[in-house]
Amino acid sequence: MQNILITGGAGYIGSHTVVALHEAGFRPVIIDNLSNSDARVLDGIAHITGTRPSFYRGDCRDIDLLRKIFTQEDIAGVIHFAAYKAVGESVQEPLKYYDNNINALLRVLIASQEHSAGQEHVFPFIFSSSATVYGEADTMPLTEETPRKPATNPYGNTKAIAEDILHDVVHAQRRANASLYATPLHAIALRYFNPIGAHPSAAIGENPHGRPENLVPYLVQAASGRREPLTIYGNDYPTPDGTGVRDYIHVVDLAEAHVAAMQYAFAQTDAPRFDIFNIGTGRGTSVKELIATFEEVTGVNVPHTIGARRPGDVAVCYADTTKAADILGWRARCSIADALRDAWVWEQRQHTTS
Ligand code: NAD
Ligand code: UDP
Repeated sequence: MQNILITGGAGYIGSHTVVALHEAGFRPVIIDNLSNSDARVLDGIAHITGTRPSFYRGDCRDIDLLRKIFTQEDIAGVIHFAAYKAVGESVQEPLKYYDNNINALLRVLIASQEHSAGQEHVFPFIFSSSATVYGEADTMPLTEETPRKPATNPYGNTKAIAEDILHDVVHAQRRANASLYATPLHAIALRYFNPIGAHPSAAIGENPHGRPENLVPYLVQAASGRREPLTIYGNDYPTPDGTGVRDYIHVVDLAEAHVAAMQYAFAQTDAPRFDIFNIGTGRGTSVKELIATFEEVTGVNVPHTIGARRPGDVAVCYADTTKAADILGWRARCSIADALRDAWVWEQRQHTTS
């Protein structure tokens, strides 16, 4: 059984990936400083899998702690989720974002390289990137070949910089004498589109601290009366109903993509290498369509008003997922209705248990 370090594994996507990895026969080991999560997520994971994952409360910028974990747990691969992710906050506090998102990546990469030097197999390193790196693209759907645009905020820039760091590290390995790196890195950046939903058991889900910035967490809280009515940010976009179009993907499908990427990396023999995959559904859904689907599947009204466009938002963003299907053998299986139903059950559970 391979031990996989999941940085940020107590978070929204990380916790679902811990479950998926466990179900696929890996042994996940979590490091998380709980800056945007809660240790109770470990109970939820144990409830689903029957196993409490190995958990280290600590910061990924702490190289000594990382070295200890890599040795103690004999880590065979990494999925690096740990980062701050609030776009608006990143504009207010850019240093906080560059410090955490870049330094955490660098420390985890250094520890991975040090540790893997003695191992026999390729060392997979999967990184959480984002469709935000495409910016306002000229054509849709977005393929991995679509040129990146300069980021419009520090959060997005940390994702672009992180991809460049991975590219440079892998290419340095490729140029160097292979014997220098007994274990070559197989880095994979997964560019997520819009993750939504929760585990169907409602044992784990998204639990943003404070007022949610993203559509679905805000929508479910508005529907339950915990928040003011949802504001639709603009109804004058060049889309069929005027509202923004995104590619919403069930978080359980997204978690499965990490398992597929991990299995793919372990199966390759030509590392060092760096791959990039879009992880979405390939379908675009407008804000109005999403509200209508939520109301249809839950029977609950979403109070909402129309507001101004949110600065920095693009009109349309959806993925071409052919590459992930062809190479990873992965594709999204759940519908938006599934995801919204699961998000709603999770929201109700928060209400009754918090
Ligand atoms: P999240 O905030 O729920 O999870 C991130 C976890 O990392 C949290 O548990 C937090 O406590 C932890 N963390 C942050 N900095 C840390 C550090 N220095 N050391 C240890 N732990 C640290 O976020 P998420 O939605 O699960 O996102 C996971 C990753 O996916 C992030 O890198 C995010 O930028 C990326 N991503 C998310 C989305 C999205 O819409 N949720 C979209 C694209 C990319
Ligand atoms: N959105 C909205 N109201 C909100 C939050 C988001 O109308 O309170 C819209 C937003 O303009 C975008 C879509 O919902 O068209 C998805 O936004 P989200 O922040 O979830 O994701 P991202 O902008 O990162 O794609």
